[in-house]
Amino acid sequence: EARRGEKQRWAVFAETMDIKYRNRQQLKADLRQAIVDRNIHVVYQPIIDLHSLRIVSCEALARWNHPTLGPVPPTEFIPLAEEMGMISEITRLVLHQACKDCHSWGDRICVSVNLSAIDLRNNQIMQDIAAALDSVGLPPRCLEVEVTETAIIADRDKASALLARLKNSGITVSLDDFGCGYSSFSYLNTLPLNKVKIDRTFVRDVMTDKRSLMLLRGITQLSHDLGLAVTVEGVETEEQLALIRVAAGADLVQGFLLGKPTSSDEIRRMIAQKSTGRASVQPVLA
Ligand code: C2E
Ligand code: MG
Ligand code: MG
Ligand code: MG
Repeated sequence: EARRGEKQRWAVFAETMDIKYRNRQQLKADLRQAIVDRNIHVVYQPIIDLHSLRIVSCEALARWNHPTLGPVPPTEFIPLAEEMGMISEITRLVLHQACKDCHSWGDRICVSVNLSAIDLRNNQIMQDIAAALDSVGLPPRCLEVEVTETAIIADRDKASALLARLKNSGITVSLDDFGCGYSSFSYLNTLPLNKVKIDRTFVRDVMTDKRSLMLLRGITQLSHDLGLAVTVEGVETEEQLALIRVAAGADLVQGFLLGKPTSSDEIRRMIAQKSTGRASVQPVLA
């Protein structure tokens, strides 16, 4: 009996693994096709300056709409593309689209593009970025790159050298998701950065946990002292926004309250209407 049960469990396990494996292989094949067909598209999330309360920049976020599964989140397909050795194709696609769309928004709005660990080790990345800028004549100051600590850690010296080249060419360099993961404070001091994006986990707890606010304020202060601008990610409520403005002293905010990721056309409309992306702007503006 016991052996039979075991055999059955094994059979179920094997079947599940097989399905998972086949799905994964299938998903990879589908992703490859989507990349070849340029079926990856880009949406943009507004980033608002807390002083002017205007959109100053947008983060480019890759989207894949699978023909049968529907939207596959980037947290799923970006690692797949990395495994397949195809992430640089996605990066190039996003860079080109982002530069083109940013150019169409007028010259006061910037765009930021996420780079993965593999991009940081790609010897072609400088040329890819330059080609994207040149394709529409976008000045480097309009482009920002976002890198995570996790991506840097794989080859810190190489990443650091690349970031220095980017920064020297006038591109803004941001440390993304700061505070989750390794959060080495020495990174803030030793990497060639312009900006820190504080991870949204701090904001999530800011209303209920005083220490989250203290951390938020502390990291902001420290970043400012080091000459870095600060973006707070993941702002979802008016209360969080008010706290961040008054108590944390950040420069920029991003989050569903200010605007969900949306199309380039919608961003252009928001900019034209001088909208912050929020339905009700007045209470906090006053
Ligand atoms: P990220 O770079 O930290 O991007 C911000 C993510 O937080 C986005 O998720 C955005 O939709 C989400 N977000 C923004 N505001 C809020 C909020 O108020 N609440 C909550 N709960 N979430 C918010 P998304 O688009 O699913 O992207 C997830 C991650 O996938 C990104 O995190 C980035 O690491 C990666 N990613 C997305 N597009 C690309 C890309 O083109 N290239 C690379 N290498 N990675 C990408
Ligand atoms: Mg990012
Ligand atoms: Mg982030
Ligand atoms: Mg993130």
